[in-house]
Amino acid sequence: MTHDFYCDEVLSGRTSVTIVRQSERVLAFHHTRPFWPVHIVVIPRFHVPSLTDLGDADPSILGELLEVVREVAAEVTAEHGACRVLTNLGAYQDSKHLHFHINSGTPLINSGATLGEA
Ligand SMILES: [Zn+2]
Repeated sequence: MTHDFYCDEVLSGRTSVTIVRQSERVLAFHHTRPFWPVHIVVIPRFHVPSLTDLGDADPSILGELLEVVREVAAEVTAEHGACRVLTNLGAYQDSKHLHFHINSGTPLINSGATLGEA
């Protein structure tokens, strides 16, 4: 079990993902093990520990991340009529790489995952 799925698997290319949007510093893609019918993850394309611990990152990354979160969340809301945006911290954050979940729909209770995971 990795503690940084995004660096170790996604950004390394080891796990392929379906990209929703990407820029030089931000990547949005469909979650590989979705917890909701619509489940998109937005991450910086370099290591940032969490929303409250930016590590060595330039804080301007937050504006870029949120711009992508805004765009994707607006699309999901327009298409599905409802949307959630969340990021986990502390013990709720399994993968220690800043990521926002954008999701819509009833949780997929058979996914074997908990809502706080990943
Ligand atoms: Zn990382």
